[in-house]
Amino acid sequence: MKVLVLNAGSSSLKCSLFEMPEGRKLAYCEVERVGSEDSEVTFRAGGSEQRRPCGVPDHGHALDIALASLTGGERPVLDGLDRIAAVGHRVVHGGPMTESTLIDEETLETIRRNAVLAPLHNPPNLEGIEAATRLLPDRPQVAAFDTAFHARMPREAHLYALPYSLYAERGVRVYGFHGTSHRYVARRAAAMVGREPGELNLITMHLGNGCSAAAVRGGRSVDTSMGMTPLAGLVMGTRCGDIDPGLFYLLTEWLDQSPAELYDLLNRDSGLAGLSGVSNDVRELLAAASEGNERAQMALEVFCYRARKYVGAYFAVLGRVDGLIFTAGIGENSPEVRGEICRGLEGLGIALDPDANRAARGADALISAPDSPTAVLVVCTNEELQIATDVWETLEGAG
Ligand code: AMP
Repeated sequence: MKVLVLNAGSSSLKCSLFEMPEGRKLAYCEVERVGSEDSEVTFRAGGSEQRRPCGVPDHGHALDIALASLTGGERPVLDGLDRIAAVGHRVVHGGPMTESTLIDEETLETIRRNAVLAPLHNPPNLEGIEAATRLLPDRPQVAAFDTAFHARMPREAHLYALPYSLYAERGVRVYGFHGTSHRYVARRAAAMVGREPGELNLITMHLGNGCSAAAVRGGRSVDTSMGMTPLAGLVMGTRCGDIDPGLFYLLTEWLDQSPAELYDLLNRDSGLAGLSGVSNDVRELLAAASEGNERAQMALEVFCYRARKYVGAYFAVLGRVDGLIFTAGIGENSPEVRGEICRGLEGLGIALDPDANRAARGADALISAPDSPTAVLVVCTNEELQIATDVWETLEGAG
């Protein structure tokens, strides 16, 4: 069964075509700068890649182009669009939704209602769903929510110490994000160590441009570092992560900025980029630090220290930790960052194998010492495959 997975962002559309249940990726198409005159289309299939510029006014046109690349060219991936049996969508905010679900009027209403909590993400996600409904009519569509994995966290983990009415009347709580990634790597790590996900306590560290940690007990998220919005928790590329909430008032006064301007500063001008003044990219920071750039070094130290604190906190949450998992761009590729986060954690039962850590770049690997009580793993995340799997499992369950 061929499943198309769509990730519609504010200015991009990413589509992956999978053969399920094998999980084989048949093609990938990305349209960047949707809504501008100088969009770019990248198409990958059968080991080759093509790029071409073109004007793409909206997500509908972007999907049209992606579908045409699947059926066009000298060696089409599909002999017709009717071969696509179902569509899966990444949707950022699902509010109370606890699992991936078939898209019907009720699901659409949930996504619309939660757009206020993810104003940059849910509207383009809806555009992707509308485009797929129009261009691939009558196909079952499934929404996979970034928040769903965390939706059943216990109340002591998801409540803020604010007036309760804000929770009861406005849904102010910790939602958490990157759930599809945390869920995928937790399952994959269990397979790598030959155990069932339900038997394991894991800490999953998604370290990419956005960063979050999760405490996973028996295959379920019981705590996570992002909050009501994806600004909380770990230090990120350009986002500040945890700060004193009192700063929000003081800085609007001192900098004479509106709340919207300050929100922008915390989202776009902070994190690794803001601290270092060099870059939001860990590769560039490591290079600058090795040439003696003190602020690049300092930014990396703050990043790793914050991540190490969350590892410690989630040890306390879980009581026993079977595995610590690193994933996403930084987690999968940077032995330096992984080593620094794990430094000094032998007392908690974490001992890296330095050679295995150094060798693990962009591939799944066990990087802890053989006698480390907690296994440390690098697991390459694959949110698209997880969404395709959800589509398959949802339809199997329904059929
Ligand atoms: P993601 O959001 O998962 O695509 O991760 C993107 C981030 O991963 C980039 O901003 C870099 O900071 C980081 N990254 C990617 N490749 C490497 C690498 N080889 N070494 C260190 N960091 C990397």
